[in-house]
Amino acid sequence: MSFSAAIITLFPELFPGTLGASVLGRGLAEGLWSLQVTQLRDFATDRHRTVDDTPSGGGAGMVLKPDILARAIDTVSPLGDARPRILMSPRGTTLTQARARELALGPGAVIICGRFEGIDQRVIDTRGLEEISIGDYVLAGGEVAAMVLLEAVVRLIPGVLGKAESHADESFENGLLEYPQYTRPQSFEGVDIPGVLTSGDHGRIASWRQEQSQALTAARRPDLLKK
Ligand code: SAH
Repeated sequence: MSFSAAIITLFPELFPGTLGASVLGRGLAEGLWSLQVTQLRDFATDRHRTVDDTPSGGGAGMVLKPDILARAIDTVSPLGDARPRILMSPRGTTLTQARARELALGPGAVIICGRFEGIDQRVIDTRGLEEISIGDYVLAGGEVAAMVLLEAVVRLIPGVLGKAESHADESFENGLLEYPQYTRPQSFEGVDIPGVLTSGDHGRIASWRQEQSQALTAARRPDLLKK
């Protein structure tokens, strides 16, 4: 059983977007993960296919209607579906590599993309939506945020990226930022690759990388060291 992603959106034409390129796209074509995209508007019941209404209590913008969205969620993710239901939301818990890894080991995710001012609180409560943010800024809609979430998750699904080892050293995986990387040519604009990396001494290389990671994290992200 492979990772199964479902998206509920007013803009299905935006998918797979970045998720269709490179190794993630290949994984999708090979069935290592699947993507089902649902047009929220298909669940509207009036002749204008209305999905939103004005905020109760007043204020600017529009809010996605609970009845329409709940019907979409219940159809895409019926009772017994083990996948977490995620709402992309600037009010949510900020996405971390740890949460991405948990999701990658699970059955998949049902992801709701908000638009306008957001969605009716009652859907969040009754459908048990987990709110996830991709950072402290406000986007126009949840679609790009959903792609960010899925891109972080899908590359961790076994078999999608070549070697499993390619994750171990990455930024955030061990609570540190990654060390500097180099590749040929040996000399670029008069600057050589650090000698230790071409020494062939794997012990020295490992400790150099560890020191570099520590120093970089201390300088740029001391908050990670405190954790
Ligand atoms: N009025 C809301 C913002 C709505 S933005 C507020 O102040 O909290 C419209 C939609 O874009 C949201 O419903 C959400 O799905 C998405 N979105 C915006 N910023 C986001 C972020 N930082 N992370 C995840 N989703 C975001």
